Amino acid sequence: MSVNSNQVITKLISLGVMANINQEIDHDTASIIAEEFGFIVVKHEDEVASEETNEQEMLDFEDKEEDLIERSPVVTVMGHVDHGKTSLLDAIRETKVTEREAGGITQHVGASTVKVNDKRIVFLDTPGHEAFTAMRARGAQVTDVAILVVAADDGVMPQTIEAINHAKAANVPIIVAINKIDKPEANPDRIKQEITEHGLVPEDWGGDTICVPVSALKKQGIDELLEMILLVAEMEELKANPNRRAKGTIIEAELDKGKGPVATVIVQKGTLKVGDAVVTGTAHGKVRAMIDDKGKRIKEAGPSTPVAILGLSEVPDAGEHLYVVESDKKAREIAENRKEKIRMEQLKTTQKVSLDDLFEQIQKGEVKDLNVVIKADVRGSIEAVKQALEKLSIDEVKVKTIHGGVGAINETDIMLASASNAIVIGFNVRPTSTAINLAKQENVDVRTYRVIYEAIEDIEAAVKGMLEPEY
Ligand code: GDP
Repeated sequence: MSVNSNQVITKLISLGVMANINQEIDHDTASIIAEEFGFIVVKHEDEVASEETNEQEMLDFEDKEEDLIERSPVVTVMGHVDHGKTSLLDAIRETKVTEREAGGITQHVGASTVKVNDKRIVFLDTPGHEAFTAMRARGAQVTDVAILVVAADDGVMPQTIEAINHAKAANVPIIVAINKIDKPEANPDRIKQEITEHGLVPEDWGGDTICVPVSALKKQGIDELLEMILLVAEMEELKANPNRRAKGTIIEAELDKGKGPVATVIVQKGTLKVGDAVVTGTAHGKVRAMIDDKGKRIKEAGPSTPVAILGLSEVPDAGEHLYVVESDKKAREIAENRKEKIRMEQLKTTQKVSLDDLFEQIQKGEVKDLNVVIKADVRGSIEAVKQALEKLSIDEVKVKTIHGGVGAINETDIMLASASNAIVIGFNVRPTSTAINLAKQENVDVRTYRVIYEAIEDIEAAVKGMLEPEY
């Protein structure tokens, strides 16, 4: 305000606030004083943020323990290309999915429900850790169990390692499906050895990773695999309250010429009903119709049910949360507010973690782990850097390598970093051009080095608050 501090203090004292120059005053007092000097006070972002937190709490309230009942697991299949992810999903569907309803509606739902004994398992149709992590970067996690497919004739490959690290970063339990055991050259023991090197120790070797030998082609081992999924789900104690306003996550959405926006949502809490007022991202509307994965029109969908819904005002993004609210008016209001906020945010981009302001974030208590994704030209460098970096951990902050891989910095590295609030470090490798663009869009800090000690010096300086800013 370009007002002398003495004038401010005098004004405060005249209002009965005995303040000194180092003291903080609250927002209301500050506005009154500012107005006295002819200024209007606008609320700081942090306070706006706390109002948003309230909105979030209103939408996403916690349930009481006694209201929770068991719910079905939602499963994603991951693994290296050509190891049999699609074939495995097909084999499961062919052996287990009951026929489509006669006269059912042809509607792609993006997930399939399988019945095993009297339980259900939901499989997401899009395999791979890319889709999984892209959702997580949007703040959504729908997967309860990850199936890691490893071909017994090929072994652990780069994308197998990526999948392991992406699932671990998300804290999702992994079941290993050792596939293609029908092949004469299949060697399941070698697979077990190789996954052990990546921290997945098989049960029969004293660890806690369940491995199931399967053949997607010959449809062998499918029942055992499904039983193991149910076992892991049971250990995870997956529960939800079906008797509340629904909350779910969009897994797919598209604009249909005849039907308008169609979105597939996996209901996670509560029961979604036809007629409910919903908001998801900047889309809102009333659920006009719901179609399940068998093409049947349904009126209600409980926890862990995938359904396509009609009636939204626009096509939402995959990974958006969907909430039922009390009225159409409220849904529209929230969606409009979000649009306004996005408009404001486009004016200023917010960095996630960056080395430049790491120390400040540590001091504010915003960062406790410094997550790092390392890419290098040779495997030896990854281990060397990993160990050197982890030694830099101090009391306030732990340096943690969440993924290391050989090759250029690619889009999935950026998405993993974005989802895990990590920085990406490259040694003698560069980001691909799509990765560079994505990093800008996601505000991920990517740094490349030629020698290891330079990276270590930079991180050490950042952790201790002594990094020279990069201009
Ligand atoms: P994805 O890229 O991981 O989805 O792999 P696909 O499901 O497309 O499978 C890649 C190839 O492996 C295809 O030619 C499949 O027929 C073959 N394949 C998949 N599962 C098996 C299996 O259990 N045994 C054999 N012999 N081949 C398989």
